[in-house]
Amino acid sequence: MSISLPHLPYAPNALEPYIMEKTIQFHHGKHHQTYVDNTLKLLTGNVLQDASLEEIIKKTFKDEKQVSLFNNAAQVWNHSFYWTCMKPGGGGTPAGNIAKLMQENFGGYAQFVEQFKNAGLSQFGSGWAWLVLRNKKLEIHKTANAQTPLTFGCTPLLTIDVWEHAYYLDYQNRRADYITAFIGHLINWDFVNSQIK
Ligand code: FE
Repeated sequence: MSISLPHLPYAPNALEPYIMEKTIQFHHGKHHQTYVDNTLKLLTGNVLQDASLEEIIKKTFKDEKQVSLFNNAAQVWNHSFYWTCMKPGGGGTPAGNIAKLMQENFGGYAQFVEQFKNAGLSQFGSGWAWLVLRNKKLEIHKTANAQTPLTFGCTPLLTIDVWEHAYYLDYQNRRADYITAFIGHLINWDFVNSQIK
């Protein structure tokens, strides 16, 4: 993944009525852009200036002198990944390998929905909920602020941004409604399947 603002894989109004164009414009054009700008600024003259985004995240994780660089770089990665996790007309019951893994590891789609929703809802304050693959098994995690499962040795398959900036204009304090809309109408299961290796 590169240290730049990626083009969205859909029009900014394509996720309406679940995520409105104005939210996407602020979230992608302002928040995500700022993480990119800050990362590039912090890399000037930094020992990691020629490293890849993934290397920067792994090497600055838990380095007290590089907290800002970690936070901004991880947020660049998390957001670039988040945009690809959605598509217009997405969500609902998946097909393919992810459906098989869900059945084997969770007992089915309904159990995935319950656990993923709970992860996003129970993340106190800002953060992310994740579906990841570790040792060929699905796991659900939540992370605070910019934390990312890239640093704990697993393959991210799906994420939802539960920072207020992701949903406040559309849902105000109703995080549960945003997560429910994401699961039911936005998840790009084709992308999730493409990440299973
Ligand atoms: Fe965000």
